[in-house]
Amino acid sequence: MLKLYNTLTRQTEDFTPINGQKVSLYSCGPTVYNYAHIGNLRTYIFSDVLRRTLEFNNFDVQHVMNITDVGHLTSDADTGEDKMEAGAAREGKTVWEIASYYTDAFKNDLEHLHILEPKIWAKATDHIEDQIEQVKKIEHSGFAYKTSTGIYFDTSKLPDYGKLARLDIKGLEEGARVEADPEKRNPTDFALWKLSTPQSAHPEPAEGSRENTHNSEQPSKRLMEWDSPWGRGFPGWHIECSAMSGHFLEFPFDIHTGGVDHIPVHHTNEIAQVQGAEGKDQANVWMHGEFLVLDKGRMGKSEGNFITLQTLIDKGYDPLSYRYFTYSAHYRKQLTFSYEALDASATAYKKLTASVSTLGQDKGNVIKEFQERFRSAINDDLNMPQALATTWDLLKSNQSPADKQATVEEFEKVLGLGLSDLTENTLEIPTEVQTLLDQRQTARDAKDFPTSDTLRDQIAALGYTVEDTPDGQKLSK
Ligand code: AMP
Ligand code: ZN
Repeated sequence: MLKLYNTLTRQTEDFTPINGQKVSLYSCGPTVYNYAHIGNLRTYIFSDVLRRTLEFNNFDVQHVMNITDVGHLTSDADTGEDKMEAGAAREGKTVWEIASYYTDAFKNDLEHLHILEPKIWAKATDHIEDQIEQVKKIEHSGFAYKTSTGIYFDTSKLPDYGKLARLDIKGLEEGARVEADPEKRNPTDFALWKLSTPQSAHPEPAEGSRENTHNSEQPSKRLMEWDSPWGRGFPGWHIECSAMSGHFLEFPFDIHTGGVDHIPVHHTNEIAQVQGAEGKDQANVWMHGEFLVLDKGRMGKSEGNFITLQTLIDKGYDPLSYRYFTYSAHYRKQLTFSYEALDASATAYKKLTASVSTLGQDKGNVIKEFQERFRSAINDDLNMPQALATTWDLLKSNQSPADKQATVEEFEKVLGLGLSDLTENTLEIPTEVQTLLDQRQTARDAKDFPTSDTLRDQIAALGYTVEDTPDGQKLSK
């Protein structure tokens, strides 16, 4: 039985899908105004492991992920700078160019990390109508009010508002400092639709960006804005996920994922919007990945101290050794990033691939005992440190190489560590060549390049070419 931790109930529960073998899964995706940092990517590895685990359990997963290409404001409180417009100003491009460039960069990161693409990409700007429709429903049910800057959700009208985060509403009200927006009725109220006002206008739109706005009847300087029943403006930042998840999946759907920072505001407000619009729960199970932190503290795009996957690649790391590194902690535990820790994972990952590549091409039978151990690890709320330990136990066991091969192939369906590509490309390596390769690896690790070159010549004399790649030494005949 698959057990998953549900943030809503604060319990690890047996997972039962709503519709038999079909599982509907929605993951909050990136805001495409900059590269994803490796902390963000930890969260996407977590949702990928979840999806792969569901598939390992023979569920048919409908996986939707959004792309936030609408410029929301940098603070959760609907104030601050518009992220997309800040990106455009920084790079002298239009917001649409920024969105397209960073969407591609994000997909590239997913590919490098063997994160399976969602079955459906939901792009916020493709679904403005759905968002307007949902706001209309919320308004119709009496949960919305208008201020001079936008349409707001009245959180006091929803008795269980804040249930996901177990927010102390009374405390929040009493503790609220002078409210930034005096027109808001409650401190937790949030924007459903923001009106373009001279105050929210961008000072100098980039050249050529005007034709990208969908309608230019009214003078306004925002780079991204749309007409709505309430006036020209742009959606609040929570509405896209509740509207698009409803467009592609039915409420309630099975699982909603994101990082832990989404619990108190973004997901809390998504739940409120779906309750307001439909009188339904949005999702049954809410799952959140803990943060990757730096020794110095939090990693964030806004803090400007972020490491991208490309940073790691430029330093010579295989992206999959970062994926391996994320398996050193359970997804609900914070993980501290340091290059020393990543080095340890990179070494272990190299050993793992080397070990799998010696298994040969024959596939025997999946070893039931190991398969069950692996299954119980992943089914125990995605215990990847345990799943990895089982993989090592299997490789060190005295089972036959062919059976190990077949079993690793099974595990790889969830691990996503490139272990089966490796097996398929495996060459039969004679022992003496393997010995020379190992010596050469040791020499290279010690930066002893003259010895490494001599060993390469010796390997060549035996009829093999060795190439150094980011994945380590690659041998061909
Ligand atoms: P964003 O692009 O800022 O919306 O973030 C994308 C995803 O990454 C969200 O699910 C966030 O919760 C998550 N996230 C942000 N910072 C971190 C971090 N340091 N570690 C892990 N996940 C993060
Ligand atoms: Zn979202």
